[in-house]
Amino acid sequence: NHTIANVDPELWSVIQKENVRQQEHIELIASENYTSPAVMEAQGTQLTNKYAEGYPGKRYYGGCEFVDMAEQLAIDRLKKLFGAEAANVQPNSGSQANQGVFFAMLKPGDTIMGMSLAEGGHLTHGMALNMSGKWFNVISYGLNDKEEIDYEAMEAMAREKKPKLIIAGASAYALRIDFERFAKIAKEVGAYFMVDMAHYAGLIAAGVYPNPVPHADFVTSTTHKSLRGPRGGVILMKAEHEKAINSAIFPGIQGGPLMHVIAGKAVAFKEALSPEFKAYQQQVVKNADVLAKTLIKRGLRIVSGRTESHVMLVDLRPKNLTGKEAEAILGSAHMTCNKNGIPNDPEKPFVTSGIRLGSPAMTTRGFKEAEAEQVANLIADVLDNPHDAATIERVKAEVKKLTDAFPVYAA
Ligand code: PLP
Repeated sequence: NHTIANVDPELWSVIQKENVRQQEHIELIASENYTSPAVMEAQGTQLTNKYAEGYPGKRYYGGCEFVDMAEQLAIDRLKKLFGAEAANVQPNSGSQANQGVFFAMLKPGDTIMGMSLAEGGHLTHGMALNMSGKWFNVISYGLNDKEEIDYEAMEAMAREKKPKLIIAGASAYALRIDFERFAKIAKEVGAYFMVDMAHYAGLIAAGVYPNPVPHADFVTSTTHKSLRGPRGGVILMKAEHEKAINSAIFPGIQGGPLMHVIAGKAVAFKEALSPEFKAYQQQVVKNADVLAKTLIKRGLRIVSGRTESHVMLVDLRPKNLTGKEAEAILGSAHMTCNKNGIPNDPEKPFVTSGIRLGSPAMTTRGFKEAEAEQVANLIADVLDNPHDAATIERVKAEVKKLTDAFPVYAA
């Protein structure tokens, strides 16, 4: 028969190993999640065979009548989910969603203002080695001494430098962002306002984090983080920008859309419109809160002192550990996270003094407050005894009990 196991046993064994890893490790990477079997099924369908350059009803290929319907379902559901005037579901990734907005609205040399990578922003918001940093004149805002976004400094910089585009949104910022305040200064200085809600999209869809859509000209996102869909990107926008954005994505920076992934997006958006998804996101926020508070009790420092979302940065200096060490030791105890720079980090970016933790994945497998507290205590046990093999073995055994009790994909 034609299963992967038969056609390509070598690859199949690798996939099986990854499946076991996902089941047996506690996933704490804030940007990851376990998508539903229905979303994965959509991505394994014959829609992968179809070329569909263009948009529903205006394609450059024949035979698009059914993929048109799939894309329209994704667009309509996405608009409903966030209350948007217009949507493009074709970006292949979050980075390409951002590039699409830049390509539509900016010229090389224009000034853009985003949150600095070192203080929580994303690469595509102006990091020196990224296209955004190479092609544009970048000015960055960051955090104040309370480790909250320094809105006053951001506003002063916007007034002085008059950027063409202001970007809000982050990859490692735990608090609510005041999108309205960003929108106000953008309007005052004549800038376009873009929000990259990639990290918070699922929370926003469920109403547990502020919705930027009413305030921004463009809202970009990934679909695979808290939103729990397939890997990919989307752009929401005011109707007046729809034409410019659509032509920037295709033919501007992409060719044929990934119709099987767009089908997966449609499924994920339908799931996100359900009451269960709202309950899930409420639990994501509760679990992150318990995780943060328990880690604080155990002597760790949380950047900005708390989380108001799914994510937090843990300052490891109280335990005399680097992010690189902590990531490796926690990994050996089957808890997966990523090292992450903290504000004013004395260590290099490949070492760092922090780790970033998130609750979306563990909440998907069914963890509630009790398990979140247990996970925080297991993390602290490891970080308190990083070189003790017996502690690692004990924690690994407790992780195994937890992951056995909460299977990611029930049989
Ligand atoms: N924007 C933000 C805020 C992100 O955190 C990420 C993911 O790391 C991206 C964009 C980029 O998404 P992708 O990895 O799909 O290109």
